[in-house]
Amino acid sequence: ERVDLENAKLKAIEEINNNLITRDEVREYLNPIYDLERLISRVSFNCATPRDLIALCSSLEMIPHIKTQLLSLKSPLITSIVENIYDVEEIYTKIREAIVDEPPLAQKEGGIIKDGFNDLVDKYRESRSSGKLWLSKLENEEKEKTGIKNLKIKYSKVFGYSFEVTNSYKNLVPDNYIRKQTLTNAERYITEELKELESTIIGASDKLCALEYEIFSELRTWIGAQIEHIQKTAKAIAYIDVLTSLAYVAEKNMYVRPKLNKKGLLDIKNGRHPVVERMLNDNIFVPNDTLLDNKDNRVSIITGPNMAGKSTYMRQTALIVLMAQIGSFVPCDEANISIVDRIFTRVGASDDLASGQSTFMVEMTEVANIIRNATVDSLLILDEIGRGTSTFDGLSIAWAVVEHIANIKLCGAKTLFATHYHELTELEGKIPGVKNYAIAVKEKDDNITFLRKIVRGGADKSYGIAVAKLAGVPDSIIKRANELVLELSDADITAFVKNIQTVQTNQTVNENTMSGQISLLDTVNDDSIINEIKELDLNDVTPRQAFEILSNLQNKVLNRW
Ligand code: ATP
Repeated sequence: ERVDLENAKLKAIEEINNNLITRDEVREYLNPIYDLERLISRVSFNCATPRDLIALCSSLEMIPHIKTQLLSLKSPLITSIVENIYDVEEIYTKIREAIVDEPPLAQKEGGIIKDGFNDLVDKYRESRSSGKLWLSKLENEEKEKTGIKNLKIKYSKVFGYSFEVTNSYKNLVPDNYIRKQTLTNAERYITEELKELESTIIGASDKLCALEYEIFSELRTWIGAQIEHIQKTAKAIAYIDVLTSLAYVAEKNMYVRPKLNKKGLLDIKNGRHPVVERMLNDNIFVPNDTLLDNKDNRVSIITGPNMAGKSTYMRQTALIVLMAQIGSFVPCDEANISIVDRIFTRVGASDDLASGQSTFMVEMTEVANIIRNATVDSLLILDEIGRGTSTFDGLSIAWAVVEHIANIKLCGAKTLFATHYHELTELEGKIPGVKNYAIAVKEKDDNITFLRKIVRGGADKSYGIAVAKLAGVPDSIIKRANELVLELSDADITAFVKNIQTVQTNQTVNENTMSGQISLLDTVNDDSIINEIKELDLNDVTPRQAFEILSNLQNKVLNRW
């Protein structure tokens, strides 16, 4: 059961925060742990590098410490997680013994295996370093023999070892020197003796690199065979990471443990937006309540001027509900939160011009998707539906969307619906389950102050011009807008809206769509068209005929207007 699982997490978080020292110790041990899942998958695909093994090792080394700390906690969820933390000591001990602390990037050039781990590795290393001693001995001998004071033995990947003689000493170069390479200021030579020495050193070096790689590969394969235990342990550790992190943010930000319910109630007292409250430097975040349920409070119509805080309020509700769904504490004083099936949001005016969609098209596509998929157990956050088109179209769409959502037979999802069409507040009382809320502002002369407090009731105007003034739009424009708004007074719309009959809430989906079609055609006032459509047998027409029928119908409609 979801509720039981999330309650178990909440209980664990509570216990963790009652043991702050344990929590902070665990968080400290979690800190150096690398992405275990990624390391494990590299091991199992045989592509982990020596550095990956060291990262795995130093991560696994933290695990016994974490386990010890967790043993002092008693909540059932934590106890069951701890059972899945396996003993990985053998794995990290083997890695520590075999691999040097800071291995090179390259895997096949040696320098991976620790001294003292493997006898043969040690032996090859010794002959390689005594080879180096012989080299410096040979260098000194040749210097004396030839009298070339700055003679040096150099190594290059392509030419191997050679004697380098600067051009000023060129005349002292003996006959047994064979020229190998010419540089700007110097020549490089080899001798028989140097060549022999080279093959001893390089031979030992090659064997050493091959052997080191072999030992490393064997170790990797051995770890690969233990992958199941590491995987389970990694999963348990990830869970602990989640719980301790949620506990930490809960304590730091004063979140509280929500009650969870299955009856569709969302009751938040003094909720806060977890991000906005932290971004406000000088201002204090004003907390707000939210109440939604499956009965009288299904849809909240939220009005209020721009900048009042509508978006913040709606998003904070969505975030609080989301946080509760993952078993997290929430930013408020008290909350009783229902398990929801999905949270749908339609916020912001983002467009998708690149794929050929206008802003309004994107908005409507999102609305269509929400309407199709939302259920009575969903939470809908709808911010200004119908904004991107003409007032009449927009208002009509918004109105119809609210009617649909509020209808328990068609949808019934709990919804916060912010809008600038304050005409929508007419819906309270007309449709069961719809309630009006406004974000309060204080108005004095032409100026407004934002109070950020949500109150019951609807705003009766938009304050758009006041906000434009606040934003610094020139006075002349503000003055003219104020004149125009008086002339364009939307009294007409309001009167019109008051007369709209809302669609009956007890209709089923089909009835509803039917009545919608009839009322559309009613305005054309022509029964013959309806009859023609009714009598049409769609199985019996070709696409071409369908086109002609449609075209005839259109002509009829146009002629009647
Ligand atoms: P618009 O209609 O223009 O989109 P809006 O009503 O959605 O505006 P928001 O974007 O939610 O307004 O809020 C505007 C600003 O007000 C936020 O950026 C935030 O700084 C501040 N604000 C919002 N809510 C609160 C609050 N509860 N307490 C304090 N400040 C807030």
